[in-house]
Amino acid sequence: MKSETFEGFCRRFEHEEVCMEAFAKARWPNGFRCPRCGHGHAYPIQTRRLPLYECRNCSHQTSLVAGTVLEGSRVPLRKWFRAIFLYFQPGGISTVRLSRMLGITYKTAWLMGHKIRHAMSTKDSLRKLTGLIRITPGRYGRVYNPTAFRHPQEHPVLIGASLTANGQAKYVKIKQVMSEDILIRSAGYGGLMKFIKTHAKNEAGEIISDLNRPLGERSKLLSHLGKAAFNWLNGTFRGIGPKHLQLYLDQFCCYENSRTRRQEISNQGLAYCSEMKRITLRQLVARPALIPVTAEYDRVMRLERSNGRSGSRGRSAS
Ligand SMILES: [Zn+2]
Repeated sequence: MKSETFEGFCRRFEHEEVCMEAFAKARWPNGFRCPRCGHGHAYPIQTRRLPLYECRNCSHQTSLVAGTVLEGSRVPLRKWFRAIFLYFQPGGISTVRLSRMLGITYKTAWLMGHKIRHAMSTKDSLRKLTGLIRITPGRYGRVYNPTAFRHPQEHPVLIGASLTANGQAKYVKIKQVMSEDILIRSAGYGGLMKFIKTHAKNEAGEIISDLNRPLGERSKLLSHLGKAAFNWLNGTFRGIGPKHLQLYLDQFCCYENSRTRRQEISNQGLAYCSEMKRITLRQLVARPALIPVTAEYDRVMRLERSNGRSGSRGRSAS
C-alpha cells in the first residue's frame, strides 16, 4: 500500500466537518455507543464547535471527544489531525517543527505531542509479548565509568521482542529498568523478572535472556534496535532525560511495530487517539521519573562539572 503524503492528508482533512466525521468513525466504527449505558442511538445536539450526543436511552450527553486524547483541548480538529499524522510517521517530529508547521505555540505543541505519545504508550501496555521471546539489555545515555556507580545520564533498558520462526521481530518493547532493579551497571535480574511479568505472556512460550551472556552472544537484531532507538532520541530530540524517556521509547517501538501492520498509519493514529484517554498537563508534570536522581548521582555530576568534562563524551551507548 502506498502511504499518503502530508499534503494529501491536509487536503483530505481541510475542513472541521470532515474531521468530525472521521473522528466519530474512528471512535465508533460500528456506530454511536453511549459511554454510560452502551445504547446505540443518540440525538445529535448542535453546538458551536464539536458535536454533542444525547443518549436516547439514558439521556447522558457526551461530546465527540469526551473520554479521548483530544478531550479538553481547544485546538481545532484539523490541527490535531495533522499532529497525529506527523507523530505517526516513522521518525516522528520534534516539538519545534510541529509548532512551526501547525502555527501553534511551543507549549501547545509540546502538550499535544505528549498526549499522542501517551496514547501510543497506553496502547502498548495492553499488549504482551508472546511465543518465542528474546530479551537483551541496553544502555541509553553516556558511556561512563570504570566504577560501580551508574552515571546520572546513563539509563539501563531491556529490549524485548516476540520473534517469528525465522528470527524476525514481530513485536518489540524497550523498557527502562526501574531504580530498585538496577544492579550496579547491568539491567539486573530483578529488572528482568519484572519485565517478563509485566510485558510477556509466557504460557507455552520460550524466553531467551541475554542478560548473563557476553556481548558477542547477545541478539544482534535487538541490540541494533536499541541503538536505532537511541540514535533517534539523540538525532530528533537532542537527547531525552529520564523523566519522559519511557514515553519516547514507546513511541519508537510504536513505529517499529507499525511496519508489519497493513493499516494506513494515519488511521491507526486516529484509532489510538479516539480509543485512549487523555493525560493532562498536571498529570504529566506530576509523574515521577522512573529512576530518581540520588545523592550519589548528584555527587558524580557535580564532580564532572567541576572537572569541566561535561559533554566531552559520546551521548549514545549500547
Ligand atoms: Zn446511555
